[in-house]
Amino acid sequence: MSGDASIAANARGVLDRAVAAARRAARDPAEVRLVAVTKAVPAERILEAIDAGLRVFGENYVQEAARKIAAVRANAPARAGEVAWHFIGKLQRNKARHAVGAFEVIHSVDSLGLAREIDRRAQAGGLTQRILLEVNLGRETTKAGFTPEGALAEAGAIESLASLRLLGLMTVPPAAEDPEESRPHFRTLRELRDEIRRRGLAGEGFRDLSMGMTHDFEVAIEEGATWIRVGTAIFGERPKE
Ligand SMILES: *Cc1c(COP(=O)(O)O)cnc(C)c1O
Repeated sequence: MSGDASIAANARGVLDRAVAAARRAARDPAEVRLVAVTKAVPAERILEAIDAGLRVFGENYVQEAARKIAAVRANAPARAGEVAWHFIGKLQRNKARHAVGAFEVIHSVDSLGLAREIDRRAQAGGLTQRILLEVNLGRETTKAGFTPEGALAEAGAIESLASLRLLGLMTVPPAAEDPEESRPHFRTLRELRDEIRRRGLAGEGFRDLSMGMTHDFEVAIEEGATWIRVGTAIFGERPKE
């Protein structure tokens, strides 16, 4: 999976499968949006992806993203304005100021402290930062994120921060061979979103579910994903980190 034609073909394949999964679940395919994950993907291939029609890119590292965002702006100034960058990686509190405003959505807010720091930086910059809360559903000690109870406990406080807009929840379920093993986790994330709304902890704008990657995005869509984050199926295998 490399070479010029393949990004377009791969992206088309992912989008076709996403539409089919939405239809199976009697959902409107337009509710499901694709974040093309470009960690370790060089700027030239992101430019190919833009040519192929992709417009939302997900990055895991602030500095790597800053370099590539600048390269895309320099090489495709006309198109750069149509492109949105999302942050999906672990965000250190001391890097928050570099992420605020640079990314349209930060998917991976994993603590109240980080949310407060993002809010402070957004306020200082005179902007509103859109965020999702990352939930660690597998309770994996190696993984960041709120526990489901933690998300319920803190959602109200985060929703009330003036310079944040809380859009929903994100998760990365435990790695599994069979995508069906992700299904209960995706369902739990949807139920948690619904419970946060039911309790009035967040408003009408709280509706997004960022879930599903290359191996399980169709299951995620069946369970309600509004953002899928797909890298390998579009850009091919990444070099090992
Ligand atoms: C790398 C990454 C993805 C994309 O994973 P693929 O399996 O390559 O589709 C999605 N979400 C997060 C948080 C990631 O780090």
